[in-house]
Amino acid sequence: MTKKRLIYINLDGFGKYYYDQMSAGKEALPNIKKLVKRGVLFEQAYTGIPSITVPMQTGIVSGCYSDRTGNCDKYWDREANEIILTGRLNRAQTIGETLAEEGRTFVSIQQFALEGKGAVRGRRDRLYTEPGGDYRIRFSMLLKLIRENVIEDKGTVYEYPEFPEAVFLYIDDLDSVGHNPPWCYADSERKRVDNVCRVLEGIDEMLGEMFNSLEEKGLFDSMYLLLTTDHGMISYRGKSRLGDFICALEEWGFRVAVCKEGKVEMKDYDILLTSHDIQCQMFLNEKSEDLRAMKMEALKKCIIKLPYVETVMTAKELADRGVYRDYADLLISPAEGESFSLYPLDQEHLYATHDSLHKKCQHIFTAMAGPGIRSDYRENSLVYTKDLIPTLAYCLGWKQPRDATGRWLTSILREEMER
Ligand SMILES: [Zn+2]
Repeated sequence: MTKKRLIYINLDGFGKYYYDQMSAGKEALPNIKKLVKRGVLFEQAYTGIPSITVPMQTGIVSGCYSDRTGNCDKYWDREANEIILTGRLNRAQTIGETLAEEGRTFVSIQQFALEGKGAVRGRRDRLYTEPGGDYRIRFSMLLKLIRENVIEDKGTVYEYPEFPEAVFLYIDDLDSVGHNPPWCYADSERKRVDNVCRVLEGIDEMLGEMFNSLEEKGLFDSMYLLLTTDHGMISYRGKSRLGDFICALEEWGFRVAVCKEGKVEMKDYDILLTSHDIQCQMFLNEKSEDLRAMKMEALKKCIIKLPYVETVMTAKELADRGVYRDYADLLISPAEGESFSLYPLDQEHLYATHDSLHKKCQHIFTAMAGPGIRSDYRENSLVYTKDLIPTLAYCLGWKQPRDATGRWLTSILREEMER
């Protein structure tokens, strides 16, 4: 039997709506469509909370979210009275670490969530390499590995007797352009989405080259392919709603503190607020957990009525989604176009980012193919990004990452695999 292998490509910032808009065109994205035809398109794939790059990339490779990884971008340490940033923290085991334990050879091309978590710079059998640059440079590295079994990294050549058992490729061009930075600034949402779609076309071409090379080398039929992402993207314009929100809370009789990071300076407050950019994390300065939960339920009913608020989640609801317990007592996500930014905003500027519970950030593109996986199949049930690696580890006969809480998506398997 031929050895099964995996190529996992993460296209940072690949909201499902970009694909839905483009794929309506008959000629568009022929290679992503080829992957979808060969395997499964997840129509209802969702990311975790908060939908921010490091927590979500970390979550995918560990098959669990911040209740296990500890990485939720920022949280309030009640004892220290400090907003803590989680940086690259990951307390959970990654798929890179299980592969290393099993002595399997793999390569991470800039999938940074594996760096020091299974993958190591300069170590051939579990190489971490960071070529930088755009998708063309990173795909070229993968293509050379497929065609010549070689990785060239800053002057060092790593040779492989055969294609590694797993390759992880991280590409962030959709995210960079999607954020609408000055070098490709679009003054309308339509133009911003257009910019992202043009990049996606370029990436699709590279995927085509990858498929051709895999076919030429006879690797295509035994290869598992995963194409997914960490979050989508949403734009906003005009003033931050943080001021309005503080006014509302003060009118209801609360003393409100705001802290971006570090020590909370204000003394004697009832409510603490922080924000990544769009959504607002709220903490109640109340030691009793029961009392806190009760007050938050009551507050939720009031906050949801504010005109600029779309979704409010309690700590309990967040915990059910696998979010770290100290992430927030209430998470408040605004309507599209609004934000709870902590920074002064240029009123005319079109901003775009992704820490929001809005569908444009949460609903993501995901497709998977490989031996034993159904082909030309649409999966319509709700799946989360944390389910993907556990499912693939199951298919490939690999050890599961120790802390994984993701489900095995058995409905996408052909009958013989399900058994
Ligand atoms: Zn990202």
